[in-house]
Amino acid sequence: MNAIESAVIDSSRLRKRAAPKGRQVAEQARAEVLATVGAGPYRRDLLIEYLHLLQDKFGQLATPHLAALAQAMKLSQSEVFEVATFYHHFDVVREDADGEIAQVQKLTVRVCNSLSCELAGAAALLEKLPKLLGKDVPGAKVKVQAVPCVGRCEQAPAAVVGQNALAQASCESVAAAVQSGQTKPAVAAYEGLPAYVANGGYGLLRECMSGARSAESVLATLDDSGLQGLGGAGFAVGRKWRIVKNQPGPRLMAVNIDEGEPGTFKDRVLLEASPHRFLEGMLIAAWAVGIDAIYIYLRDEYHGGREILLAEIAALHALQLPLPTIELRRGAGAYICGEESAMIESIEGKRGLPRLRPPYVAQTGLFGRPTLVHNFESLHWVPELLQNGAASFTRHGRNGSKGLRRFSVSGRVREPGVKLAPAGITALELIDEYCGGMLPGHRLYAYLPGGASGGILPASLANLPLDFGTLQAHGCFIGSAAVVVLSESNTPNDLHRDTAVAAAQNTLRFFEHESCGQCTPCRAGTAKARVLSEQAVWDKTALQDLSQVMRDASICGLGQAAPNPFDCVMRYFPHELT
Ligand code: SF4
Repeated sequence: MNAIESAVIDSSRLRKRAAPKGRQVAEQARAEVLATVGAGPYRRDLLIEYLHLLQDKFGQLATPHLAALAQAMKLSQSEVFEVATFYHHFDVVREDADGEIAQVQKLTVRVCNSLSCELAGAAALLEKLPKLLGKDVPGAKVKVQAVPCVGRCEQAPAAVVGQNALAQASCESVAAAVQSGQTKPAVAAYEGLPAYVANGGYGLLRECMSGARSAESVLATLDDSGLQGLGGAGFAVGRKWRIVKNQPGPRLMAVNIDEGEPGTFKDRVLLEASPHRFLEGMLIAAWAVGIDAIYIYLRDEYHGGREILLAEIAALHALQLPLPTIELRRGAGAYICGEESAMIESIEGKRGLPRLRPPYVAQTGLFGRPTLVHNFESLHWVPELLQNGAASFTRHGRNGSKGLRRFSVSGRVREPGVKLAPAGITALELIDEYCGGMLPGHRLYAYLPGGASGGILPASLANLPLDFGTLQAHGCFIGSAAVVVLSESNTPNDLHRDTAVAAAQNTLRFFEHESCGQCTPCRAGTAKARVLSEQAVWDKTALQDLSQVMRDASICGLGQAAPNPFDCVMRYFPHELT
């Protein structure tokens, strides 16, 4: 056979190939995807929303569905796969060797094992529930999963059956919810639009839009109040508005309701009580800064809050005001998406990988446009400050601080919850005056002033003012004002004692789990620190070295702050290490 005959045979073989190489899209999967996400046109930035639709309908993301979605959206399969596998709430299921997809779990029970819930007995729940639900509940095919903070620390231990969050969860209450099929979120009574308007709500927005108030007067009030961003960074709100306002249009806004810092739940409590106070603040900000479109990013764990926002955003049309576009986006279980640039990536439908800065999001943010990024509570304050004046805020404060703070308090106190207290209050004052004191039989041993990443302080430093900038000299920060209280027994026969070592181990498990993996100091550092912290004898030299590298070389705040808890253990609790 000569070369020409050989080439003819080879090309005829090629023509017989029925499909391109690589994974093919099954007709059934294609039909199911189109029936679920619609026939298009598709938006690239809505990829995570489409994945939610598939996950909600089928209880998992099967690889044939991912392939079909990629084809429909004209994306590479790897692009869809990498996004789907980034987020904890998506269960990506691959075919086995025979091309079969594993049967879906009917129901997921999520048990929080972050610090406050661990203090309240989450480990026992996680040990008992799989046996209980696997054997004793007729017909239930249940997956029990340990998950990081679900934003219900005042209700610890918290469990979520499907989308139904249970406070002070027990084996009995979880089993009862499973058996009776109570898997939908319970939405408590809240202040809806009619009640809010009847109380004068949206009057400020109307004054702004009618010209009765100028944007400059609104900005001046914010400046005078000294209001700082309450998501954790503490950047001056008025200054941030001015920076974005001075950027060329179109300008966008991204609202961060992804409060995932363990110990933090204030935004959820406010959202479930007074959504329109936030929405009016958001719309005033949009008006003052000249925002064309608003994207609200809500953590996926807040199912009840999502129902509220969907209903109340739709109700805004009744105001008959010229409003910007408002889109509600659903997170998918990734703590890192609370970091502003990671949240922006997620809103764009990508993995939540923090961006390198500069450029800052105020200049080049969402879809490359100047973006005003705000935490929920910061915007919730705006109507009140405009209504009552900056002095109504600044007249509060202790120990040299001005203003008010909402503290999320959990752990060993009598009355955990969201506490509106003067900025600069000490932990001792907060516990005694706002939380009814310690639990009976307990005395203060230590506290975390700013959630998992804010470090751990001993009781001897419970007289420090809690505010932005007051704790840095002590190796800590207030962040989102999530105070978790640890205790020891105050009775001679009671041997109870929480330890800072156990608290640090808990936070390190969390950071290792939530590191996005983009940079080595954090990806490898959180894992290594977790392993070192679990040794009977801590290698302090190695941990100190690791801490320095993580602080100096991590891209974002997660890796930079992750050493705080174990650094604090070595600094303040050396007796626990001997
Ligand atoms: Fe990701 Fe951690 Fe690096 Fe942040 S510090 S970019 S979370 S790996």
